[in-house]
Amino acid sequence: MTQTPTDRELFWADAVAASLPRDIKHVIRDSKTPSGPVPISGLRGPVITDALYRTFREHGLDVRYVFTIDDFDPMDSASMKQQAGMGEQMGKPLFKIPSPEPGKDFARYHAERFLSTFERVGIHPQEIHWLRDLYGSGKLDHEIELVLKNADTVRRVYAEVSHVQKDQSWLPVWVICENCGKIGTTHATDFDGTSVAYECRRDYVSWASGCGHRGRISPFKGNAKLPWNLQWCAMWDYFDVTYEEGGKDLLTAGGSRDRANELYREIWKREPPAGLQHEFFNIGGKKMSTSKGVGASAIELVELYPGEIVRFLLLRTHPKRAVEFDPAGNTLPRLYDEYDRCADAYLEDPRSDFGKSWKLSQLTENAKPILFRVRFGTVADWLQIPSIEPHAEAAKRKKAPLVADESADLDRRIALAKVWLERWAPEEARFAVSSALPPATAMLSGPQREFLTRATAEIGRVTDPEAMQERLYEIAKEVGLTTPEGKVSKAAFEALYYSFIGKHNGPRAAWLLITLDPAFVKQRMTEAARAK
Ligand SMILES: [Zn+2]
Repeated sequence: MTQTPTDRELFWADAVAASLPRDIKHVIRDSKTPSGPVPISGLRGPVITDALYRTFREHGLDVRYVFTIDDFDPMDSASMKQQAGMGEQMGKPLFKIPSPEPGKDFARYHAERFLSTFERVGIHPQEIHWLRDLYGSGKLDHEIELVLKNADTVRRVYAEVSHVQKDQSWLPVWVICENCGKIGTTHATDFDGTSVAYECRRDYVSWASGCGHRGRISPFKGNAKLPWNLQWCAMWDYFDVTYEEGGKDLLTAGGSRDRANELYREIWKREPPAGLQHEFFNIGGKKMSTSKGVGASAIELVELYPGEIVRFLLLRTHPKRAVEFDPAGNTLPRLYDEYDRCADAYLEDPRSDFGKSWKLSQLTENAKPILFRVRFGTVADWLQIPSIEPHAEAAKRKKAPLVADESADLDRRIALAKVWLERWAPEEARFAVSSALPPATAMLSGPQREFLTRATAEIGRVTDPEAMQERLYEIAKEVGLTTPEGKVSKAAFEALYYSFIGKHNGPRAAWLLITLDPAFVKQRMTEAARAK
């Protein structure tokens, strides 16, 4: 019986959309602090947000997608501190730090690299705002003023929700020190309506050291920023945000999001945006650190994987479940097979959960599944047999020429399979058909030789891989290559792998026998059966 959307649990994105009021204008916001190269895990939030944005619109909600680059944040990254020349930059606003590339600053360099991945994975915020512009132009001045006038409330909420005690003179604003240019090290006090007093303290934070300067300055027009929680509130208010995703680290009880929610209610007198809490995406495995492993940066993986596969990787698991991903081994062929199964599910029922996962993984909203596809693992096998031209082989299988989108899809798989074979494929997935009889064939047993001889008679006669596989099983049983339980023993197929590849394993044997030139196959099997 087919389940209808009413008698089963809703797909996660639909459940979120259904929970939102329909009679207001919605704004969904996401943000990024450009403090260095972004790992692929940094794309989980933006991809989920983009999927929700699409889903909200599909549900008929009036929604705007706003993305902010938090480039006014201080540099506090421990890993960056280790890098040459970075020590003196610690604590400065990211947009004031020199770039690895001339003509840009550090924040712009990393933010632009991150944003370039958006295009490749089909993320399209309607608006992108840089905090340097929002603060610098004075657009957030009224938010800063509101916070400073409610400093006592901020101190109370910090103490109640997060058990952080601030002294009575402390003001929730970070001034840029006029002497050393750092923002993370300043302690501000005494707001008189137009300016604040501040001191740049040497030991204010663990990740940066201030210069000791004292002064008075206006906290407006880009001279200062709000601390993280309050900056969130300022963004929510300024953009009228109604929905905002958050990573798990930010949403734990007593953590930043709870505190921001409370501050928003108390100071802005507004209800904080709704928001799903998504779990971590860990890219991992020990192999990541070896020379063969891919660097974990989003940029690199996004350049190698087709955009649909990146989205699928980040969306196929419910946002509330953590994802462990290791590109080494057979992870990628399995991921691609799963992606294909979801495409089939979409063709069968676009409203199914798998179908929806497929649909949200597409780079454009009106994409349709490619009808004829070749499994990723098969493409990888083809690439290792010199006599096979993948497009011709695919057309042979389809029994018709490939149409343009099928051909383009095959090209994407070929490009990725080449990289996979070179960098991540397990040993058993790599093979090359030997041009000469492999020496290992001298070790073949009597029954293995008998198996080869009988199987040779089928070459050219049986042309369907399933039928050939079936026939190989029968012959193996006839010659006694069976286990004590009566199953076909591995030794049968090993005889074929030794003959063609010189290893004990390889791709699907029947398929190998049918794909290679029949004359060559017959000759090789005959030679192997007699090898000394
Ligand atoms: Zn200073």
